[in-house]
Amino acid sequence: MRFEIITIFPGFFSGFLENGILRRALAEGLVEVGVHDLRAFTHDRHRTVDDRPFGGGEGMVLKPQPIAEALAALGVEPRGPKAQPEESTECQGTTSVAPNSPLHEERALAPAQDRPTVILLSAQGRPFIQAVARQIASMDRVILLCGRYEGVDERINELYCDFELSIGDYVLSGGELAAAVVIDAAMRLIPGVLGNEASSEFESFGAADAAITTDAEGVPRSQHGSGGLLDYPHYTRPAEFGGLKVPEPLVNGDHQAIRRWRREQQLRKTLANRPDLLENAVLSKEDCKLLDAIRKIQPACIDTEWSKS
Ligand code: SAM
Repeated sequence: MRFEIITIFPGFFSGFLENGILRRALAEGLVEVGVHDLRAFTHDRHRTVDDRPFGGGEGMVLKPQPIAEALAALGVEPRGPKAQPEESTECQGTTSVAPNSPLHEERALAPAQDRPTVILLSAQGRPFIQAVARQIASMDRVILLCGRYEGVDERINELYCDFELSIGDYVLSGGELAAAVVIDAAMRLIPGVLGNEASSEFESFGAADAAITTDAEGVPRSQHGSGGLLDYPHYTRPAEFGGLKVPEPLVNGDHQAIRRWRREQQLRKTLANRPDLLENAVLSKEDCKLLDAIRKIQPACIDTEWSKS
């Protein structure tokens, strides 16, 4: 699969591309990344990429012309404006589609036919979640457009972008970090990139048990597919550190006991830190019983000052 990044800071990506799993994936040809300097598509002496906003207000806006030329150089032509949603007299303040529901993902990732998928990184985008990373990992060619300043002229979004993605509810100073996040999360899901394929199945937001077929023959599995939950805690040697021992079930060699303990921890951690994930998680009857028992002794979410603001 190939990623193309359009940015005014191409140098930003050098460290990112030269380390860890991504470096190996690039060397092995499993992933390709092209970094394109937006200023190379300007025609004035100052290589101007931005201009003042119509209507006044703070900051500058990335001009449409250099971006359109950069996209044309990558073989992407405008498609015509996106259809506007039908006008409704009803209040649109709430949505009936939960941000992490499968329906939401389908809408977010309407397939782009015969052309690369063009993604605009934006704080106003749909949430970038693991299911979206999985979809991106299955695509052939993805163009990531990094905004700066107040953002990108909206006509670029209208004419070229398949969807906008946000990596979280905060505002970054540019889309480069977000593009790096999207590439990192997606490329490790491409078959062959991780040394051990099972690693991307047995982790937070992963598949349900039924969808995993990686059991070693004859050995009971000591892990659970998360089924949309958070991962369980991990430990390594030494068996005792800082006065804390590794939990007993992990050291006695009983795979079933390890598996039970890990599932309980997944449920505990998800309930404590991300109770919203439980709504769409794949839970067995046993999980539900366990969850009810945990709920009786553990509050649903850690209450902090910042979570209230
Ligand atoms: N005026 C914009 C707003 O209020 O939504 C913020 C623009 S931000 C300073 C500049 C660029 O950073 C954006 O165009 C986008 O590419 C990127 N960016 C900022 N926050 C982001 C986020 N949460 N996810 C993805 N990209 C983000």
